[in-house]
Amino acid sequence: MLRIMTIVGARPQFIKAATITRVISKNSEISEILVHTGQHFDANMSDIFFKEMGIPRPDYNLNINGLNHGAMVGRQLESIENILIKEKPNLVLVYGDTNSTLAGALASVKLHIPVAHVEAGLRSFNREMPEEINRVLTDHVSTLLFAPTQNAKSNLIAEGISDNKIFITGDVMLDASLYYRKKQKKPIWFDDLRIKINEYVLATVHRAENTDNEDRLKSIFMGLAYSDEQIILPLHPRTKGFIDKYKIQLASNIHIVDSVSYLEMVWLENNSKIICTDSGGVQKEAYFFNKPCVTMRNETEWVELVEHGWNNLAGTSKKYISDGIKKAKKPLEDKFLYGKGNSAEEIINLITSNDVLFK
Ligand code: UDP
Repeated sequence: MLRIMTIVGARPQFIKAATITRVISKNSEISEILVHTGQHFDANMSDIFFKEMGIPRPDYNLNINGLNHGAMVGRQLESIENILIKEKPNLVLVYGDTNSTLAGALASVKLHIPVAHVEAGLRSFNREMPEEINRVLTDHVSTLLFAPTQNAKSNLIAEGISDNKIFITGDVMLDASLYYRKKQKKPIWFDDLRIKINEYVLATVHRAENTDNEDRLKSIFMGLAYSDEQIILPLHPRTKGFIDKYKIQLASNIHIVDSVSYLEMVWLENNSKIICTDSGGVQKEAYFFNKPCVTMRNETEWVELVEHGWNNLAGTSKKYISDGIKKAKKPLEDKFLYGKGNSAEEIINLITSNDVLFK
C-alpha cells in the first residue's frame, strides 16, 4: 500500500487536490493522509470547498494563519515535520505556490521523504512575488515534478533540474473545470443584481502586489469603473481589508459580493462576457470556459494564453484595464493548451509506476 500525504492550505489548492483525491479514492493500492495547514480558514475560503467538492475531512488541521511569511512557514514546517515523523508516508504531494507548498516540501525533503510537486515549473520571473520564491524552492527539492505544459518543463530544464524527474501532465484545474461544470450553481443573489447572462465582466483581485499597494488598488478599481461594463467582483478577504483601509469608493457599475464557492464561480465564469483578474487559476478558467481575459498584472506564468490571444496583460494602469475590457475578444484559434482533462489520472499513474517510491 502506497501512503501519500497531501498538504493543502489555500483555496486554489483545495480545487487542485479535489481532482487527485478523487482518483486516489478509487485506487485500493493507495491511502491518503490529508493535512490542511489552515492558511485559508474562513468558511467561504475553506469549508465550502471541502463540502461542495467532496474532499474528505482533513486528518490534520494545523490552523496556522494570519502570520507574516517567516512565522507562517516556520510554524507550518515544525508541525508538518511532527506529522511526517508519526505517519511516515511514502510520498508527500504539494500543489502550486503557497507558503503551505514550501513548508510541506521542505519538511519532507529534510526527512528524506520524496516530494511530488503538482504545477511544477511555473514562473513569473518576478522574485518580488512571494509565490515565485515558493515555486522555485519547491521545484528544486522535489523528486517528481508534474509540469502542466512544455513551457513549464522548459523553465525547469533551464534551471538545471534533471529531465528524468519532470513529467508533462496537463493541468489538474482543467480536470476540475470539466468535472464540476456539470454541478455548477447559480448564486442566489444573481437575479437581484438585474444583470443579464453573458453581459457582465467577472472580476477578481487578490494578489498581494495589487492589494497591498494603495495606488495600484485604486487604479484597478478606476479601470474597472471606466470600462462601462457591469462588473461582478467576488471579494477576497484580503482585498476587502485594503478597500476599507484605503477608503476606496466603488463606482455603481461594480457589484461586490462575498467570495463565492467553486461551483458558483464556475457558473459565474461560464455565464460571463469577459473575465478580468489577477488570479493565476482564473486566467486559465477564462480559457476553459471560452471567455477572453484581461489580466491585471505585468506578467503571467501562463504565457501560452497570451501567445494564443486569450489573455491580454493590462498591468494595473486604469487606462489599459478599461481599454482592455472594451476591446476584449476571443481569438479564432482554439487549442488544447493544458491537456485533455485527465491530468489527475496521469499523475497517479506516474506515481504508482515510480520505482523510487517503492524502495
Ligand atoms: N475561486 C472561487 N471563488 C472565488 C474566487 C475564486 O472558487 O470567489 C476559485 C477560482 O475559480 C479558481 C481558484 O479559486 O479555481 C483560484 O484561486 P485564487 O485566485 O485564490 O488563487 P491563484 O489561482 O491566483 O493562486
